[in-house]
Amino acid sequence: MTPETAALRLLVLSLLETADDGALPPIVQLGHPALRRPAVEFDGQLDDAELAAFLTLMRRVMHEAPGVGLAAPQLGVPLRLAVLEDVFPVDEAVAEVRERAPLPYFAAINPRWRALCEQTASFYEGCLSFDGYQGVVERYRRVALDWTGDDGAARSDEFTGWQARIVQHECDHLDGTVYVDRVVTRSLASTAEYQGRWARPDITEARAGLGF
Ligand code: ZN
Repeated sequence: MTPETAALRLLVLSLLETADDGALPPIVQLGHPALRRPAVEFDGQLDDAELAAFLTLMRRVMHEAPGVGLAAPQLGVPLRLAVLEDVFPVDEAVAEVRERAPLPYFAAINPRWRALCEQTASFYEGCLSFDGYQGVVERYRRVALDWTGDDGAARSDEFTGWQARIVQHECDHLDGTVYVDRVVTRSLASTAEYQGRWARPDITEARAGLGF
């Protein structure tokens, strides 16, 4: 085991210990270097039980936040692991315009995505690591994802609309990219301003009101 692997494993074990004591580890915020470094491929740095426990912890943190995805760097852990799940009830108009269909939980180990067409969609999104803001990001509408499941099996699937957005957002985290790197800067809104003024199914009013 290299010193880097040993340090990584100890970091994960310390987070698991924190959780055993009843406190969930904090989601690190913009400015933490783990959010800015490409994460390393998972290749057995944790044993099966440790990996399973860590993914379960990531899912708990995601639920608690609450959010629809969490990548390991958001807990300060530079490994290519993410959990995704979007089963929140959403307004019918929002679901339709944003193509937001429920995404059942899955854990993605070493995920890789590619665009399936040139078509993009622009909507407000937020990030648990940049608390208190929302901004418009243009993302591919349809993507294919290859990953290793938490059972060790190779998987691939295609995702459309909001699901494709979540996939791209979480994979970005594994490359040290945060949505503010891609955001339409004039669209940035505090969550309170967003909720009060621009929380519509699409971004037409925000575009007119904020001039982007
Ligand atoms: Zn994020």
